Amino acid sequence: MNILLLGSGGREHALAWKLAAARSCTMLYAAPGNPGIADHADIVALDASDHKAVIGFCHEKGIDLVVVGPEAPLVAGLADDLRGEGIAVFGPGRAAAQLEGSKGFTKDLCARANIPTARYERATSLEAAWGALKHFNAPFVLKADGLAAGKGVVIAETREDAQHALSEMFDGRFGSAGSEVVIEEFMRGEEASFFALTDGETILPFGSAQDHKRVGEGDTGPNTGGMGAYSPAPVLTEDLVDRAMREIVVPTVRTLGAEGMPYCGVLYAGLMLTDEGPKLVEYNIRFGDPECQVLMMRFEGDLPALLMACATGDLSKADPVRFSDDTALTVVMAAEGYPDTPKKGGVIELGDAESDGAKVFHAGTARGEDGALVSSGGRVLNVTARGSNATQAQAAAYKAVDAITFPDGFCRRDIGWREVEREKG
Ligand code: ATP
Repeated sequence: MNILLLGSGGREHALAWKLAAARSCTMLYAAPGNPGIADHADIVALDASDHKAVIGFCHEKGIDLVVVGPEAPLVAGLADDLRGEGIAVFGPGRAAAQLEGSKGFTKDLCARANIPTARYERATSLEAAWGALKHFNAPFVLKADGLAAGKGVVIAETREDAQHALSEMFDGRFGSAGSEVVIEEFMRGEEASFFALTDGETILPFGSAQDHKRVGEGDTGPNTGGMGAYSPAPVLTEDLVDRAMREIVVPTVRTLGAEGMPYCGVLYAGLMLTDEGPKLVEYNIRFGDPECQVLMMRFEGDLPALLMACATGDLSKADPVRFSDDTALTVVMAAEGYPDTPKKGGVIELGDAESDGAKVFHAGTARGEDGALVSSGGRVLNVTARGSNATQAQAAAYKAVDAITFPDGFCRRDIGWREVEREKG
């Protein structure tokens, strides 16, 4: 199978590693890729927003399957355009991609399908938003409707703060993503990520994870794209997974299908485990980053065949999904100053970080003029290891971190702390 992988982060490096290792993969191309992905794929200069160019490349190279890593090309309808040309693609079309592209769309769908989630109201003007605020109590959850790179959510402790944040949102703080807002009831509980693969009909659970969004140890400081993650998330027990499938994921896929918006790809449900059971916080229409890295570290099987089965409506005939029983844990090494002002260009030496089975996925790296590896983004490396439990996986991951020389980088030293605490009993 000839495969084109779109994206350039640690998520795509992990996917490239698994795709290229499978017997069913003949040729893997990646665009725009990164130096880590280059170890597994031919890097091509393709812009995913130029649908014509992507289609032309697929025809020229006889691409059998396109795997789209990030959400933006899916929200922009790349999958529809590829399918229109008879090219199989792993990822939903524009209509179903609204699950991530519009928070209001998802909340309305939950209401129609009776899916447990926070009570909400949508507002398209500041006046309406201030009015809606009266129907909620602190803390107030305010969300820009559109894509805002994980930064479009404000949790305000007081009504005044909420009013101020809403003013900013309608003033363009999040660009066009904030021209509509969703106001939600605050849910209490522990958060966990749950993944399912679907071809629109068959729906298969695809593992769980928990991540650390805050930049500082003890989950403090500003939000980031994610400073680390581990999988599985034992807090998502078999019973809770069954409920999440039955009450949330299955009705979502069925409702989208019935309404003419069939979903194909991975559905990533951000869940709040409340006293009343799992409730949906949000949907993402792609693998999480860095959650994908820990899922791929545990996945056992032929990834191209599985993703192709999703893309072609053959998931019911695919081999059963298998994951190692190990825990995988990834530590994000970020550039000093991240998330506000990451310092780029710092030299990195990986040393023998991978000598004990750990994997160093590249997230924001580049090759300097002399060929040296340098940082080129906020999140730079995802140092990922396995162990028989979270404690072992954490020790293995930090051993690999300590083998890396990256003076301009930093990482949290407590990734997985919740699970490690639980394992201490
Ligand atoms: P990201 O891309 O970072 O996952 P996002 O911008 O898509 O975020 P959400 O996931 O909807 O937005 O919200 C971000 C975070 O805000 C959640 O992970 C959760 O911690 C918190 N949050 C969102 N909605 C609620 C809610 N109703 N109650 C409590 N916390 C919430």
